[in-house]
Amino acid sequence: MNIEPIKAFTDNYIWAIVNKSNKSLWIVDPGEAKPVIEYIKAQDLNLCGILITHHHYDHCGGVAELQKKYSIPVYGPKHSDILATHLVADKQKIFLPECNLSFEVLAIPGHTLEHIAYYCETEHLLFCGDTLFSAGCGRVFEGTQQQMVDSLQTLASLPDDTLVYCAHEYTLKNLQFAQLVEPQNEDSARQLAFVRGLEGKPSIPTTLALEKKMNPFLRTHVATVIAAAEAEAGKPLDEAVNVFSAIRAWKNNF
Ligand code: ZN
Ligand code: FE
Repeated sequence: MNIEPIKAFTDNYIWAIVNKSNKSLWIVDPGEAKPVIEYIKAQDLNLCGILITHHHYDHCGGVAELQKKYSIPVYGPKHSDILATHLVADKQKIFLPECNLSFEVLAIPGHTLEHIAYYCETEHLLFCGDTLFSAGCGRVFEGTQQQMVDSLQTLASLPDDTLVYCAHEYTLKNLQFAQLVEPQNEDSARQLAFVRGLEGKPSIPTTLALEKKMNPFLRTHVATVIAAAEAEAGKPLDEAVNVFSAIRAWKNNF
């Protein structure tokens, strides 16, 4: 079983879950159909199904065309823009028979209200859409700041060696911001140098262990991050959610 990126738009990853032994393929968040169809042909695979994390077009815009061409199951949360054949909700278990993989659905509202993640406990794989990015997090478009904090905590509570497959390559800019928040953080400095050296090759997956060491949005309890957020906000911030909000607002203008 392999997880491979299919690039879409300018910085999206459509994740391919591939079982080479039986040429089976499941994909996560196909924002467009064309690169998926090209990948299927180039790799000679059979598309068996789709997982969707949330309703933004860059995550589900390719579903209609793929469903029509391959008539496959589409798992996703309840939203009128998601053409799911199988609605899934928090704590639900789903099984991908062709890949022999089970996933648990985790509700992670904030970026959008219906946003979910897919977590595979046996392989420690996490597909988290636009909620957690490497060294960053998604913008809070529909939910409250507190919902986003809680959702990030839900993800951060998974095992440290969890492989995090987020849906965008934002890592370089996120790390530059992380360094601005915590200039003394050696983990983000080291990772910034590493990602620069990739010269455009994917920086994903990341791990929760690394994210906890360098992602400012998972470090709102750390003294250096609180101090930076207070300096930026120009006032004391006594609760984690306020620290988070200050850093999120700061990043939005970065
Ligand atoms: Zn999104
Ligand atoms: Fe997105």
